[in-house]
Amino acid sequence: MKHSTLTRLAHAGRTGTVDGGQPVNPPVVRASTVLFDSVAQMREMRSRRGNERLFTYGARGNPTAFALEDMVTELEGGYRTRLFPSGLAAAAMTLLACLRPGQHVLLPDCVYEPVRKLAEGFLAQHGIAASFYASDGHDLQARLRPETRLVYVEAPGSLAYEMCDLPAIAGIARRHGALVAADNTWGSGLLYRPLALGADISLMAATKYLSGHSDVMMGTVCTTEAAWPALAAAADAFGMAVSPDDAYLVQRGMRSLGARLAQHERGALAVAHWLRARPEVAEVFCPALPGDPGHALWRRDCRGTNGLLSFSLGDAAPDAAERFVDSLALFGIGASWGGFESLAVIADLRGARSVTDWSARGQVIRLHIGLEDIDDLLADLAQGFEAIGGKISCHVSAMPPDSAR
Ligand SMILES: *Cc1c(COP(=O)(O)O)cnc(C)c1O
Repeated sequence: MKHSTLTRLAHAGRTGTVDGGQPVNPPVVRASTVLFDSVAQMREMRSRRGNERLFTYGARGNPTAFALEDMVTELEGGYRTRLFPSGLAAAAMTLLACLRPGQHVLLPDCVYEPVRKLAEGFLAQHGIAASFYASDGHDLQARLRPETRLVYVEAPGSLAYEMCDLPAIAGIARRHGALVAADNTWGSGLLYRPLALGADISLMAATKYLSGHSDVMMGTVCTTEAAWPALAAAADAFGMAVSPDDAYLVQRGMRSLGARLAQHERGALAVAHWLRARPEVAEVFCPALPGDPGHALWRRDCRGTNGLLSFSLGDAAPDAAERFVDSLALFGIGASWGGFESLAVIADLRGARSVTDWSARGQVIRLHIGLEDIDDLLADLAQGFEAIGGKISCHVSAMPPDSAR
């Protein structure tokens, strides 16, 4: 019987193997060397490990990591999963696994900025061409080249959360003979299912919601059966492995992924609606908001939203965004997101977009809404607006959860 995702989050990746009773979560198995009973057994295991997942050496993975791989595979609905020391490493290895010198990759304008830099720098230096298509994908067909072998997708995109039509993009790519790799960090396997929507590869920064506690770095790549051999070969060649302690922390975090995301969503929707009603705010970027350009696609393809949203201050003073963020008491100032705590950062999209013209828009404030009380967060944001001389809001109260949905 096929269980729902929430049920599988609680039951997947349990692999106790001791005599007697079993722990609920898999044990942490620390190992570099793995011992065999005989030379023949060692030879046999090594001859099979290219195709099968076998515990043969620490750099090829460990049982704790294998349990996490299984859990991610269930969540993403793919064939197999490989773990990487960071989300960026997962993205980099995906690009290197799929592309050869002389070939070309198309990336969305909204791609996570370090991946843009990797494509423009390292890939270019190694003879792999990269160019960009509009975040909503409308110009993809026209930008394909004969040598395009990979279309990279990020939906919703980084910082302004633009949606694209992944099934349509996957159709165009397939007719062209190109693979599709999607960065699914926003969806975290629960809110968005790239493999079900036509992608061949789905990668995530487990650093974010999967771990959920801002204290571990990891990346995951899950693929279809056809796309698996190239990814596995690249990961083996580069010796990509994660520590069992980190794998354990991510799996432990994932047990509460569904409950955390539901609360992040409630908070972010309340804040998004509240911000939209503020006179100081020019635009709120969140595809779950009715009226957002990506809202129809978000309704069609996503099962909810997370704690992320960005907004811009209209014609405020140039330093207003910085003073606003500095004045917040409950929002930490720091990179990343997906932990239990709220964060605020300033992003300038003018340097992060090359297809869309952002020159007239300037800075955005990106919020990650954590698991704190929603009214406390709204009160903190309200005093932030007061600190930059904004109009004093008469009413600082979260919408009831029903209307926030
Ligand atoms: C954070 C992030 C990454 C990179 O993850 P790290 O673990 O920080 O390297 C990749 N893609 C997206 C969309 C991200 O937000």
